[in-house]
Amino acid sequence: MTNDVVVAGAGPVGLFLACELALAGVRPVVLDRLPARSGEQKANGLVGQVVRLLDHRGLHQPLGGTPGAPQPIPRFAFAAFPLELHRLDANPLHALPVPQHRIEEVLEERARELGVTVRRGHELTGFTQDGTGVTVDLHGPDGAERLRTRYLVGADGGRSTVRKLAGIGFPGVTSTDPVSRVAHVLPPEGIRGTENGAYLLPGCPTPFHPYTHTRTDHGVFVLAPLGPDTVMIATMEWGGPPVDPQSPLTLDELRASIHRVTGADVELAPAATPGRYTPRRTVGHNTRLAERYRDGRVLLVGDAAHVHSATGGPGLNLGLQDAVNLGWKLAAEVRGWAPPGLLDSYQQERRPVGERVFMHSQAQTALMSPGPAVTALRALVGELLAHDDNLARIGALMAGSDVRHDTGCPHPLAGGFAPELDLGGSRLAELARTGRPLLLDLTGGGLGLADLAEPWKDRIDAVTAEPAGPAGPAGALLLRPDGYVAWACTPDRADREGLDRALRTWFGEPLG
Ligand SMILES: Cc1cc2nc3c(=O)[nH]c(=O)nc-3n(C[C@H](O)[C@H](O)[C@H](O)COP(=O)(O)OP(=O)(O)OC[C@H]3O[C@@H](n4cnc5c(N)ncnc54)[C@H](O)[C@@H]3O)c2cc1C
Repeated sequence: MTNDVVVAGAGPVGLFLACELALAGVRPVVLDRLPARSGEQKANGLVGQVVRLLDHRGLHQPLGGTPGAPQPIPRFAFAAFPLELHRLDANPLHALPVPQHRIEEVLEERARELGVTVRRGHELTGFTQDGTGVTVDLHGPDGAERLRTRYLVGADGGRSTVRKLAGIGFPGVTSTDPVSRVAHVLPPEGIRGTENGAYLLPGCPTPFHPYTHTRTDHGVFVLAPLGPDTVMIATMEWGGPPVDPQSPLTLDELRASIHRVTGADVELAPAATPGRYTPRRTVGHNTRLAERYRDGRVLLVGDAAHVHSATGGPGLNLGLQDAVNLGWKLAAEVRGWAPPGLLDSYQQERRPVGERVFMHSQAQTALMSPGPAVTALRALVGELLAHDDNLARIGALMAGSDVRHDTGCPHPLAGGFAPELDLGGSRLAELARTGRPLLLDLTGGGLGLADLAEPWKDRIDAVTAEPAGPAGPAGALLLRPDGYVAWACTPDRADREGLDRALRTWFGEPLG
């Protein structure tokens, strides 16, 4: 039997891709070499446009969000600069504090509900591809096995076997600095809260604002109260004493690092709460980007395609949006209606987004490093961030909401992620739950466009609505399954030719 798609890797990105494929009518098989979810402590939360994307799939609330539309966060940090995003009229940044193991649990439950087969304890060990498909070698509890599939997706993390076997280069930078240390501990004695919500460590004049990086002359310090009996403490150091990367981080080593970075000497004791972070040390960073995301019938998503520092939490914003961009395009290919070039547009659209994260991740690390030249550079960047247009630009960079795809449509909304719209009784995000393309007439049918999409009704839903309140930003929108606007028109002019072109460009020829 030939499978449609085999996804190697049941991390968050592989699982989300599988959900997207299943929503689009394709039944993927997901392999993971681990017999069970690892529960490894990685992401503490989701940051950026991915939060709105998950709302489009009805996953915002199950992941710990509040009912209704996700709300932007008033503050965030960029390279240890506070981003006072509440100053902006249009704040672009959303966040959802949820641990990665919970994200994986929710996505796996959903994948199974959608009929996805997840085969744990099965490691991809090799593959060969030809003109009609890919033969995948795996090793599982019953020994070696072979699967045939039309497409293979490597969602197998930063050390991706799929990427290596496909011969796809992974150029970039590996540095041995900074050394990052993090642990969950009991609130240390001697820490004092200040009136404006900051904390003072004994013997250190610098106030530390919680949950954010603070740069000192010797490194970076983070303190995040996680409950009455738990704080997360982290340091980053450049040029510190040599470490044995194989040895586990001890609280004494963390204490010495806090002393070097802040000047404060604080006694540390492990937090007693279940699920606490085991002390962890990371030596340096890998910042790397796959030279291509596709090799014939083999594609890469998530960390298999890009790795970078975790500062600002861009990993899942990037990886989960790769998955949603690829999902509908690959499904269209499998189901036979993909227009020429649609699958290649995955790399064309997503690799430049990876390049932007590569850039800001490196820039942030450089801007946090010690030294007088960096201090001077920070003074300059700090001045720039005092201006709201610069603040908005950096906020959008961190959110990934500055991504614009070339759709050929001149309307200002085209190519961007759809704005949230209150449609009087429902929200645009709620209409997107099915993952099907949407033609949304926002004039209550006044533009008479639904007939134009009729020949595509097997793959597109035409919906008529009227935004609550004053006239919306557009008269009609053609929305791709990944939430991006393929085409839009003003309320007074139904550009039927443009719509027809967009339908064919993105959704192929109608069935005869
Ligand atoms: C300490 C830390 C903190 C982080 N904090 C954040 C944060 O706050 N926010 C954020 O967005 N991101 C954060 N990240 C990044 C985030 O964890 C990653 O971007 C994310 O895990 C990538 O998901 P993925 O599914 O692409 O890959 P992975 O999570 O690496 O999953 C890959 C899966 O593939 C499986 N696999 C590997 N090889 C094979 C094979 N040959 N055959 C079958 N299966 C295989 C693995 O077992 C694994 O389950 C952090 C990372 C770290 C390390």
